[in-house]
Amino acid sequence: MHCSIEEYYRRLDRSLFIDNINKNWADLDRPLPIGFGQTISQPSLVLAMTRQLNPQSHDRILEIGTGSGYQTALLAAFAQEVFTVERIAELSHKARQRLGQMGFENIRYKIGDGSLGWPEFGPYDKIMVTAAAAAIPDELVRQLEPGGRMIIPVGSPGMQELLLVKRNRRGQVTSRILEHVVFVELKGRYGWSADG
Ligand code: SAM
Repeated sequence: MHCSIEEYYRRLDRSLFIDNINKNWADLDRPLPIGFGQTISQPSLVLAMTRQLNPQSHDRILEIGTGSGYQTALLAAFAQEVFTVERIAELSHKARQRLGQMGFENIRYKIGDGSLGWPEFGPYDKIMVTAAAAAIPDELVRQLEPGGRMIIPVGSPGMQELLLVKRNRRGQVTSRILEHVVFVELKGRYGWSADG
């Protein structure tokens, strides 16, 4: 990609990622429903998270929570390859169709529990988690390259801290709070119960 993340973000039409009545509100800087009780995050937050993850052309990035595919597009435009996991099959299928129509060929899709990561293709240079966990899943830390970084919202269902997690070359993990956010829950083995 020959433009900056900001430029690409400004040009990316968010309405392409919403196929219900909320399409009309795509320009608002608000989270919007995408069906199945899930949301597309507010664009300014997606931009901030992308900038913090800082995708590079040689990066292999794991994304947990494909949702509409909007965040996936921002990552895939700058990374070598994006591996994106979504637990709701219908959302994954729609995102795959949209991103395919947009011409992306560097995205792999998985339907399943992303709290387990996607070990077959790991470790990853970077990990983006777009659903809220109670704690940083060990599995995801294990799948992060030494020197890698992860963005993840961690906290209670109603309010979380958005963490920038770094794993240094010796494997030690540090984290820094970027801001307070409200994300839908990461369900699954290392997330919240899928029944609750
Ligand atoms: N980044 C997405 C976008 O740009 O549209 C929004 C993601 S939405 C806030 C969170 C997504 O995480 C939902 O689609 C939800 O189904 C998914 N999710 C929740 N728990 C998950 C899990 N264990 N594995 C994979 N996806 C999960």
